Amino acid sequence: MTTLWPQPTESFSARHIGPRSSEIDAMLQVVGASSLDSLIDRTVPEAILDRGDHGVGAALTEGQALARLRGMAERNHVLTSMIGQGYYDTVLPAVIQRNILENPAWYTAYTPYQPEISQGRLEALLNFQTLVADLSGLDIANASLLDEATACAEAMALARRVCKAKSERFFVDADTHPQTLAVLQTRAEPLGWEIVVGNPWTDLEGQEVFGALFSYPGSSGEVRDPRAVIEALHAKGAIAAVTSDPLALVMLESPGALGADIAVGSMQRFGVPMGAGGPHAGFMATRDAYKRHLPGRLVGVSKDSAGNPAYRLALQTREQHIRREKATSNICTAQVLLAVIASMYAVYHGPEGLRAIAQRTHRMASILAAGLRVLAVKVETESFFDTITVYAGASAALVLERARAVGINLRDAGEGRLGLSCDETTEAETIRAVWRCFCPDEARLASLEAGLSVTEVLPASMQRSAALLTHPVFHAHRSETDLLRYMRALSDKDLALDRTMIPLGSCTMKLNATSEMIPITWPEFARIHPFAPAEQREGYAELFAYLEDALCKISGYDAVSLQPNSGAQGEYAGLLAIRGYHRARGDEARDICLIPASAHGTNPASAQMVGMRVVVVACDTDGNVDVDDLKAKLAQHDGRVAAIMITYPSTHGVFEERVVEICALVHDAGGQVYLDGANLNAQVGLARPGKYGADVSHFNLHKTFCIPHGGGGPGMGPIGVGAHLAPYLPGACDVAVSAAPYGSASILPISTAYIMMMGDAGLRHATEIAILNANYITARLAEHYPVLYRGKNGFTAHECIIDLRPLKDACGVTVDDIAKRLIDHGFHAPTVSFPVAGTFMIEPTESENKAELDRFCDAMIAIRKEIAAVESGDVAIEESALRHAPHTVADMAGPWERAYTREEGCFPNGVDTSKYWSPVGRLDNAWGDRNLVCSCPDISEYS
Ligand SMILES: *Cc1c(COP(=O)(O)O)cnc(C)c1O
Repeated sequence: MTTLWPQPTESFSARHIGPRSSEIDAMLQVVGASSLDSLIDRTVPEAILDRGDHGVGAALTEGQALARLRGMAERNHVLTSMIGQGYYDTVLPAVIQRNILENPAWYTAYTPYQPEISQGRLEALLNFQTLVADLSGLDIANASLLDEATACAEAMALARRVCKAKSERFFVDADTHPQTLAVLQTRAEPLGWEIVVGNPWTDLEGQEVFGALFSYPGSSGEVRDPRAVIEALHAKGAIAAVTSDPLALVMLESPGALGADIAVGSMQRFGVPMGAGGPHAGFMATRDAYKRHLPGRLVGVSKDSAGNPAYRLALQTREQHIRREKATSNICTAQVLLAVIASMYAVYHGPEGLRAIAQRTHRMASILAAGLRVLAVKVETESFFDTITVYAGASAALVLERARAVGINLRDAGEGRLGLSCDETTEAETIRAVWRCFCPDEARLASLEAGLSVTEVLPASMQRSAALLTHPVFHAHRSETDLLRYMRALSDKDLALDRTMIPLGSCTMKLNATSEMIPITWPEFARIHPFAPAEQREGYAELFAYLEDALCKISGYDAVSLQPNSGAQGEYAGLLAIRGYHRARGDEARDICLIPASAHGTNPASAQMVGMRVVVVACDTDGNVDVDDLKAKLAQHDGRVAAIMITYPSTHGVFEERVVEICALVHDAGGQVYLDGANLNAQVGLARPGKYGADVSHFNLHKTFCIPHGGGGPGMGPIGVGAHLAPYLPGACDVAVSAAPYGSASILPISTAYIMMMGDAGLRHATEIAILNANYITARLAEHYPVLYRGKNGFTAHECIIDLRPLKDACGVTVDDIAKRLIDHGFHAPTVSFPVAGTFMIEPTESENKAELDRFCDAMIAIRKEIAAVESGDVAIEESALRHAPHTVADMAGPWERAYTREEGCFPNGVDTSKYWSPVGRLDNAWGDRNLVCSCPDISEYS
């Protein structure tokens, strides 16, 4: 059909998808399929294949999608926020915004599991840990958690783990943010812990508890001295956790100095926009004695093969979810990019700058309170940093109304109380406007400032005693030129998607398109408080509705919750929904979660967090769920099975033929099916989990739906559910898994833009090419390395596992040798040793073109030749370029006494001036764990 008007000349999907059509034909030949359709027919089981359109519509161009998002943004209204309650306006320095938040060298990086190619972000994270440990006055801090509320829940779990007392009760300061309380209640209930809410200064005595959480300052703004109460807690062997505000801690005595064992909070106001709730870096610090119980990731200092200091993830095998059902936390994706931004904010301002910001904020709040008192307003808060609570009684609604009319949001704290928070951006005009809202009498206001006496409200005993941020990094980069060069020097050390493909199986490192990223820094998305009045967030409401609807259509589910901040949090929320469903039906005995041996570690970790018992289901030799074993386990635990958690396609990289049967078997036994959606990139447009038998899935928006990994976060893990589970979603009942109702709302435009710009046809085509690309790699590498698992027609799904164990057995070459040698070729290694130890899991995604796939295959084949030389005995493994990899610039200078030439070592592809150089040699992990240093080392250590 011809139409009058020409179609747009631009198609985004042709930019998102790597291979051109001529390349697709060539690749199909290599994999042995006559067409894409035929490849898909022979890969995706017939029982689930459904090529019908989702109904998300035709593709928009980049310009059209941005215009649509602009329209949504315009329905959000940015007011001056004085709501506080854990979220404050802040100034993100432009140099950090453009060169980190908007810079793919930072935002497209992966979690630093390969330390040699991650030295830049590891250094930034070490700065973050140093900042947190210093503000907290504690020994050791991790490299971020998901938000303040979940950090408090993690603190509670840590307390239960390290406390020797038998109690199952945890005390929570009544003056805690309500969203934190909700998350704590959700976390405690399935584990059988009782939350006791009260005033620690009066109600804690005589209570048997395993720990207590203090809010410092409180949600009301009040700053109280917890020293005596903490001492009393310690006397009965209980643990003291303090949730705090990092800007307040610049001025206030540190939690560590007050006796706390754990300090938590959110680093949001260190330069990270409120973003309607996130993403922000939660933080946690604790005593050295508890370091092995810290959830999340911990960066530490070690040395490389030349003996030089180098960074890596410390105690890596202790990342909690790797402990599977013995884990106390399921956190995997955290908030690295936001932690990096917060750390740079501290590097940019230094201790003097931070102190000036904190003092100015405090002064604003003090003036605000003093003025209100003169105006006879009842200010209830006596000792405060930046927030006061006033009692306005019957006139509270009127004051709120007047404030809104002049562009200011106050917090409605209920029962006639209003909360007023100052921040870095507060101006004198704002304070004057607030006074006017309480007292519209111009004559009184006119004379108010002249006679105002403002006294310090923080007692000396509550002011910080220790020096702040003494390490040179917080003093050395005060000019913008300097900071720019520091950030550039760090990012130059790292390999991110802007330089090479990152073929990490299960992680789906695909294009994060620039157009998708643009809206996230628009003020109408960035500067919205999550609890601002709904009429100011209509644009967000439209965005959420669009995305929920699109995710339902794509997945075949009936309802979606956008609350979970990561895939693992989605698992947790989904299992809570299953638990709620069973309990509502009186099916309380169902407490077993079946999990195949191949599952990701977060699956069993999440199951234990909801109080379920994990029973492992075996896999057969082809990598599929062993259906006979499943039947046996269902029979053995008749009436007790709450759920099965399966990953589809499985982490073995195949579409299991019997998935429909597996779902039916579990349903027949009265259980629910949790389908881990991390591998949805192999299904979009071709199969819908909600239609072929699953009840609930999470979608890693930072995998399939293009949110960049940010070096280990942010992410989003919304869940889709069948209608029967919808009443048990966060928001629909009193379950809360994140501090903010829509999790990390401000990054949802990324996935929304992606879906809009791909449309039905583009989304389906992306999946087809993801499968083709994986099979192309499989076909090219199969002659050189054994491919562990394949589907019934010999094809893999969107990823493949190659088995390197035989090489280790034959000649001692390890997975690490191969991973590090890939660095010399300029590649980030694939996923190492997951889900099978001694293997690589390779996932190219649809965004890589044939040339890049070939470059990778060629590197793997060249490495195989080097291995052959070791196998044949020509080269000893210890003497080989494999074992000495990665090579550094230092290898180009000085004496050379290796069994291979410098050129062979440093330039495996011939001399190449644009080659990536690893900044350090191979890391010594064991040494670093024995000599644990997790904050910025003393400068003398570098000499
Ligand atoms: C990535 C992944 C998860 C966890 O997701 P996070 O967002 O990192 O919490 C769970 N299961 C599988 C199979 C994954 O690949």
